[in-house]
Amino acid sequence: MSSKRKVSYYYDPEIGNYYYGHGHPMKPHRVRMAHGLIVRYGLHERMQVLKPVPLSEEIMQSFHTREYIEFLKNVTPENQDRYSKEVRNFSFVNDCPVFERIFEYCQSYTGGSVGGAVRLNHGLSDIVINWAGGLHHAKKSEASGFCYINDIVLAILELLKYHHRVLYIDIDVHHGDGVEEAFLTSDRCLTISFHKHGGDFFPGTGDLDEVGVGNGKYFSVNVPLEDGIDDDSYEDLFKPIMTRVMEQYQPSAIVLQSGADSIAGDKLGVFNLSNRGHAACHKFMASFGVPMLVLGGGGYKIKNVARLWAYETGCLLGCEDQMQEDLPPNEFYEYFAPDYSLHINSIPSMENKNKRENLDKLRTAVLQNLSYIKPVGASFQGKATDALTAQAASGTISRQKHPRSRLVTPADYHLVSRGPEASSTREEQECDDHDFDEDASSQ
Ligand SMILES: [Zn+2]
Repeated sequence: MSSKRKVSYYYDPEIGNYYYGHGHPMKPHRVRMAHGLIVRYGLHERMQVLKPVPLSEEIMQSFHTREYIEFLKNVTPENQDRYSKEVRNFSFVNDCPVFERIFEYCQSYTGGSVGGAVRLNHGLSDIVINWAGGLHHAKKSEASGFCYINDIVLAILELLKYHHRVLYIDIDVHHGDGVEEAFLTSDRCLTISFHKHGGDFFPGTGDLDEVGVGNGKYFSVNVPLEDGIDDDSYEDLFKPIMTRVMEQYQPSAIVLQSGADSIAGDKLGVFNLSNRGHAACHKFMASFGVPMLVLGGGGYKIKNVARLWAYETGCLLGCEDQMQEDLPPNEFYEYFAPDYSLHINSIPSMENKNKRENLDKLRTAVLQNLSYIKPVGASFQGKATDALTAQAASGTISRQKHPRSRLVTPADYHLVSRGPEASSTREEQECDDHDFDEDASSQ
């Protein structure tokens, strides 16, 4: 891969201050930890660092309903009792709590993803990274699986203004159901998800025979897997399948959801990938030279999420070999005990329940379905209005204004607005993370 590709990276210094609540596995703080490593490895000097422009509710309504957005904008932990009907109807329960500044949080992570799509549309970047995005479970008017606004769907809708065929790839351990559902009947977005399927694993959809509907038939691709898949087995599926997708579909833009819960040792995930095995997907897709939007997603062992996304940023920049194994001193160094190292290894004792003959059958079946696909609409001129001006999508955090030492400071960490329940000091999050270790086995 050429290291000369223009890589842009969205980061909101406020992202780590949003807090889902005590004991909740989703911690936006992990994005701040990833950023801390990215900065300490000097990766920010090799790419354009951008601050997302908060996305407007009008643009959110290109996918979500007005009623849903209105509720999300107005609800707070203090007033949610007045909205009991909406809380129930829109599924703001259990996994998806109402928390302080929830709408601002959504505006921030969606702003990065849609802004990234605008940049790709205008040729301003070859690759755009937004680790805060990738919330693939959110539905048109339903929160689901820690996701409220589906930034991926909004970004793909933006890309479709300029690209006739957009490829969506999802390597989170969970099925990318919200994105698949949004484009289920469309042949202009091919969605492919590699995920754990079976038993009562969330969200329960994503079996091999779910292939799309109507014009979208065969444009939804699912690769259901068992527990414990390792790097070699994953690569043996990913590379031949994605090669066939690229040949048959010929997309002109790619969105890669890089959920980190498919890494070994995740608190909710059941796969056994190393960071190198996970990042091999990035390297492989980047090798096609197609404009690519790279997003985050799940990932609940936060020290692994941070290390993975920092490493994958290095891979996309083509400089991962220059990243030293010993983590550089950083604001969150103590989180990385006991080894303080960059790489995450597979767990040798974990059984790979994906048997060779089953994987061979699965690959054959997926390739067979892909043979029905044709690259539709070869010529296409985008005429729609941009969600943001290209200039707005470029609202930068210039390196000059934010020198390395100030991109993340311990002081940022305490600038959290707190409700009576929602405390978020470093010590409490750390404790919280630890607490969840006990709970995780029952999830
Ligand atoms: Zn997930």
